[in-house]
Amino acid sequence: MNDRPHEAKIPAAFAGVATLLIIVGAVALMACAPSVAETVSNSAEPSSSAAQMPDLTGVEIITHPVAGSVYMLEATKDVAGNIGVSVGPDGILIIDDQFAPLTDQISAALAELSSGELRFILNTHYHEDHADGNEILSREGAVIVAHTNTRKRLLHRPKGHWPVITFDHGASVHFNGEEIRATWYPGGHTDSDLVFYFTESNVFHLGDLWNSGTSSFPVVDIEAGGSAMRILDNIEKLIPTVPEDAKIIPGHGPVSDLVELRSYRDMLEETIDLVRGRWEAGMSLEQIQEEGLQPKYDSWGWGYLDADGWIEGIVKSLEVAREGDLDRF
Ligand SMILES: [Zn+2]
Repeated sequence: MNDRPHEAKIPAAFAGVATLLIIVGAVALMACAPSVAETVSNSAEPSSSAAQMPDLTGVEIITHPVAGSVYMLEATKDVAGNIGVSVGPDGILIIDDQFAPLTDQISAALAELSSGELRFILNTHYHEDHADGNEILSREGAVIVAHTNTRKRLLHRPKGHWPVITFDHGASVHFNGEEIRATWYPGGHTDSDLVFYFTESNVFHLGDLWNSGTSSFPVVDIEAGGSAMRILDNIEKLIPTVPEDAKIIPGHGPVSDLVELRSYRDMLEETIDLVRGRWEAGMSLEQIQEEGLQPKYDSWGWGYLDADGWIEGIVKSLEVAREGDLDRF
């Protein structure tokens, strides 16, 4: 996270679709956005997603040991989601695969860790900064596993991107001597969010339910079924399942832990309550943004989304809930 990504400009190709996306924050559009075709329709229309690509010039893939047999691959400049990696006697399994142009570097980083075959690719959700490498990295036979909604949201892309094994609520992959447990936490960041738990290595991967320690507000992809309140609900459900000594890989940012996850929960609750109170009192989005969040959360706007973006995500979520659409799951 060397840059201040939210200061980046929205590529021209996005400008016309920004109002359709109803995603907030400039970099959210670049690095975390659904494809244009997906926002317009849920049909399996073919489309080009090349316009979604951020500038990957000079980006490097850095390998971090996490715990047990699990590693994390980080793309520098925070252009793409963190990859979780399991290496061992059964070969290699990865969670998420960033952007297609980075796959040569990803493969090189995996080869440094193991000479085994890449056997499984698990997707936390469908956003291209997490799943665009599916097609290239599965060519040698790796099996793509994801939530049912991730597959639906990738059907407009070439077949090589499509998850082969899907499920609705939960599933486990037994690999490298441990159970890797997938659990669906619906309707927070998107409608396809999976949380993975490496049960022996004691490592979680939360995807974009959580971005980096205590410095970044979450992105709410409302058009893809996300909700700020559901992010809070999901984190509250998740926390009791996390052992005190577990390591947590967030969707973006450094490896973290339960202490920081609890701080994140507190931030979600306090800021949502503040914004909800003002919204229910009749303040407009602009007025709420003008008042701002609690000063102690000033530093959280460093990452993908600034405070105004998070406030907009909350207000949009409240509007959807008022329309009675929040119980769609
Ligand atoms: Zn995302």
